Amino acid sequence: MAEFSIIDSYFNRRNLNSVDLGVGDDSAVLTPPPQQQLVICTDTSVAGRHFPLETDPHAIGWKSVAVNLSDIAAMGATPHSILLALSLPQIDHAWLKAFSQGLYDCCDQFGVSLIGGDTTQSPHLTISITALGWVDSGQAIPRSGAQPGDLICVSGTVGDAAFALNHPGHPLQQRLDYPSPRCQLGVALKGLAHSMIDVSDGLAQDLGHILQASQVGATLALDKLPLSPALHTLRDEQKWQYALAGGDDYELCFTISPQNYEKLLQKQIDVSISIIGTVHSSLGLTFEKNGIDHLLQFNGYQHFA
Ligand code: ADP
Ligand code: MG
Repeated sequence: MAEFSIIDSYFNRRNLNSVDLGVGDDSAVLTPPPQQQLVICTDTSVAGRHFPLETDPHAIGWKSVAVNLSDIAAMGATPHSILLALSLPQIDHAWLKAFSQGLYDCCDQFGVSLIGGDTTQSPHLTISITALGWVDSGQAIPRSGAQPGDLICVSGTVGDAAFALNHPGHPLQQRLDYPSPRCQLGVALKGLAHSMIDVSDGLAQDLGHILQASQVGATLALDKLPLSPALHTLRDEQKWQYALAGGDDYELCFTISPQNYEKLLQKQIDVSISIIGTVHSSLGLTFEKNGIDHLLQFNGYQHFA
């Protein structure tokens, strides 16, 4: 019984967008728009592993959705709906109220509906979200399309979340707790970007996935990395460490031809875009600073946490 009262109390709001059948039946039912492909991804967070146990539940709800919408955006797709598989150690109504509010706040901002899920008891608080979106058939932007001569671009600023992890109480904590999936930019890049990834594990590693999938190399301009003011004040090696290896940015990194970049500039985009490098045919990732080769040592590509 408890399971049903949790679902009814916290996870059964009216749907925002076209859903034929949502929470309450054995499965949800959707009608795919004509000429669209389904884009689908999933992401699991475990308390104590992916976020500290004492994290604000509203932020946990927001971020659990946001990281999935970021993966949908990284394909050039429009997010449509999510499913939530929730494992709870106990029923804590204050926690569930704030968590569900954070989850719905993110859904509402991006026009996404919660259409189903599963609620179970388990010793560890675990949140698993599956997100669904649509993309015009054949238009999904893969990691594997980068071409020599492409510009490498990234949205927003990088390294903020990693900086915040190391500076508790800093205003950049907002960037760690409430990432903004770049949904509008992702869709705007459809038909323009050759390859794309969302930056979740650090820019260098995630760009590395594009390079490997595309069998190309790249040079990154360290002086062009978009940084928040707080990171600008750090010494070079430290700020590059945050920017390249930090993780949890949820920005979009994409490659695009110079001609298509000009077309992108004609569109209204709700986030800044920086050109940070170029793609070339010789494999590997190299760095330069102010146009001069720069050998960079940084502590691997792992998360700071
Ligand atoms: P079943 O036993 O058929 O798997 P459940 O009893 O688990 O169904 O779930 C009942 C309904 O509530 C289903 O429509 C399911 O998708 C939905 N649901 C269960 N848990 C959640 C949740 N945490 N968030 C959203 N919907 C949920
Ligand atoms: Mg069930």
